[in-house]
Amino acid sequence: MKVRNVIVLGATGSVGTQALEVIAANPARFAVTGIGAGSNVDAAVDQAIRTGARALAVATPPAGGEAQLRRLLEARAEQLGAQVAVETIFTGPEASARLAAEPADVVLNAVTGAAGLTSTLAALASGTDVALANKESLIIGGELVLRTAEENAAQLIPVDSEHSAIAQALRAGRRDEVARLIITASGGPFRGMSADELAAVTPEQALAHPTWNMGTVITTNSATLVNKGLEVIEAHLLFGIDYDRITAVVHPQSRIHSMVEFVDGSTIAQVSPPDMKLPIAYALGTEPDGTTTRIAGATAPEPFDAASSWTFEPVDDANFPALRLAVRAGRAGGTAPAVYNAANEELVAAFHAGTITFPQIAEGIAAALDDHLGNGENHLGNGTDAAALTLETVLAADRSARAFIAG
Ligand code: NDP
Ligand code: MG
Repeated sequence: MKVRNVIVLGATGSVGTQALEVIAANPARFAVTGIGAGSNVDAAVDQAIRTGARALAVATPPAGGEAQLRRLLEARAEQLGAQVAVETIFTGPEASARLAAEPADVVLNAVTGAAGLTSTLAALASGTDVALANKESLIIGGELVLRTAEENAAQLIPVDSEHSAIAQALRAGRRDEVARLIITASGGPFRGMSADELAAVTPEQALAHPTWNMGTVITTNSATLVNKGLEVIEAHLLFGIDYDRITAVVHPQSRIHSMVEFVDGSTIAQVSPPDMKLPIAYALGTEPDGTTTRIAGATAPEPFDAASSWTFEPVDDANFPALRLAVRAGRAGGTAPAVYNAANEELVAAFHAGTITFPQIAEGIAAALDDHLGNGENHLGNGTDAAALTLETVLAADRSARAFIAG
C-alpha cells in the first residue's frame, strides 16, 4: 500500500497532535509533508523536525519572521540529532491556506473556527481530499465549499466523531433507504441544570467536559450545545439529508457516536470509546475512491465484557436553545450559518473574558440571527440563489455578525 502524504493544519492543537500520533504509529501508511500552526511556534518547530515535514506554515510568526523560524528549526534539529527537511516556510494569516494548496494526498484541517475556511477551499481547489475536523469551514462556506469540492473532484471526509460514525453506518444501506440521522450529544457538563443554575456557571466549569478532552472553543460549544447545532448543519451538508430527518439525542456516556435509521426500522450505531484517534485514523485511511482501509489498533475497542449501561434522553430545548437556533440558521441557509458561527465565536470569547454570562451566549446568537434574517439585503444565497455565496459574501457576513456582537 502506497504511503499517503498528509498535510496537518492546526497541528499544535488537540486534534492536530492526536493526528500526528496516529501518523507516527503507522509509518508504513502515512507520512507528514506539511505542518501548519497558529502561534505556538516552539511546538510547530518541534513537530516539523520530528515528522520530517518539507513545509511549515505559521500564522503568527516570531519576531524575525522566516529567518528566525529557520534558526529555531536548526537549533531544534541539533537538539534532537535530526535533520531539517523543511524547504518551504509560509507565514501570516494565509499561511495555512497556502500550505493547503501544496501537493498532498490529504489535507487534515484541524484549525479552530472560521479561520479554517480559506484552507479548506484552497485544498479542495487544488483537488486534494480534505479530512475535515474544522467543521466551521463547511458550515459557514456551505454551498461554496460543496461546489468547490465537486468541481475539483475532491472529497470532504469527516473527522468529527458523529459524522465519522454516520459515514460508517451509511455503508449498511443505500442512500435512498435512509429514514433519518440520529446525532448523539454528551449533553456537556451542565446537562440537567436549571435556568438559574446556568446563569451562575463559570468559564472554568464550562471547560470541564465529562467525556471528551478538546480545545477551548469546542469544549465551550459542547456546554451550550452550539457544537451539536453546528454538527446538525454539518450533517445536512455532508450527507444531503433534510433538517426534518436529522435528530439530536443526549447520550451522556459518549459510546454511540451517532446512528443511521433505515426505512425498514433498522438502526445502525457506531460504538467506540470517546477517543478522536479512531475518526482521525478512519478519515486518513479513506482512499481517493471513497473506500476506507481501517487502521489496526487505532483505538481500544469498547470493553463489552464489563457491566455498563448506556442512557438516552431528549435535548432540553428550553435551557439549551442553541441547537434550535442552529437549525433555524441551517434552514435559512446562505450566509445565516456564518452569522450563527461568527456571533458564537465572539460570544464565547466574551464569556471567557468574564463580560457575559453563559445563557447570554445563546441570547446573543439569537439576536445576531434576528438582525441578519430580518434584513433581506444582508442574507445572501438562501438556497434559491446559492451562487451568491462566495468567499467575499461569507466573510462579509462573518464580519458584520462580529461587529453586531461588539455592539
Ligand atoms: P485547538 O484549540 O486545540 O487547536 C486549534 C489549532 O488551530 C491549533 O493548532 C492552533 O494553532 C490552530 N490555529 C488557530 N488559529 C489559527 C489560524 N488563524 N491559522 C492557522 N492555525 C490556527 O482546537 P481543537 O483541536 O480542539 O479543534 C480543532 C477543530 O476540530 C475545531 O474545528 C473543532 O470544532 C474540531 N473538532 C475537535 C474535536 C476535538 O476532540 N478536539 C472533536 C471534533 C471536532 P496554535 O495552537 O499554534 O495557535
Ligand atoms: Mg463532534
